[in-house]
Amino acid sequence: MAYEHLIDKDRCKGCGLCVAVCPKNVLEIGTRMNTKGYFPAYQARPEDCIFCAICCTMCPDVAITINEMPKQRPAKPNGGNEMGKVLMKGNEAIAEAAIRAGCLNYFAYPITPQSEVAEYLSKRLPEVGGVFLQGESEVAVSYMISAPPPAGRGCSPPPPARASA
Ligand code: SF4
Ligand code: SF4
Repeated sequence: MAYEHLIDKDRCKGCGLCVAVCPKNVLEIGTRMNTKGYFPAYQARPEDCIFCAICCTMCPDVAITINEMPKQRPAKPNGGNEMGKVLMKGNEAIAEAAIRAGCLNYFAYPITPQSEVAEYLSKRLPEVGGVFLQGESEVAVSYMISAPPPAGRGCSPPPPARASA
């Protein structure tokens, strides 16, 4: 998905907060006054924008928006319009979504029906600098997950215990 970054020049009051928080030094305060007499911010280096959305989160006047744009796919030589798709099992999609949401630690005791979550994360977490540990029991895993949150690391809970018959 592509994104566009927009600053509403007439809403901006030129406070400079977005300029200060931008991690890529994309924004600057302009020299052209808006209709309210302020000098609004603008994207001086749009090519460096990583669409992290920190600026629009911080703007007190809600003057910045980031919109998702439908991605333009290059036309195939044969004129086709093939869409890129990823086919995943539901458990794999859950695991990948956890990583993309910031999960860096997963301490697991695999139990059907979601052992595939642990299997997937055991492969993927090392690739993103995370840690996967398989505990010897649910109780051991419950002790393991009590440590990372105070240390500021993302952590998914262990699989729920299977109901006894
Ligand atoms: S934080 Fe908002 S109001 Fe302040 S300069 Fe940036 S866009 Fe303008
Ligand atoms: S989206 Fe992120 S990188 Fe882009 S201008 Fe805003 S703070 Fe900077």
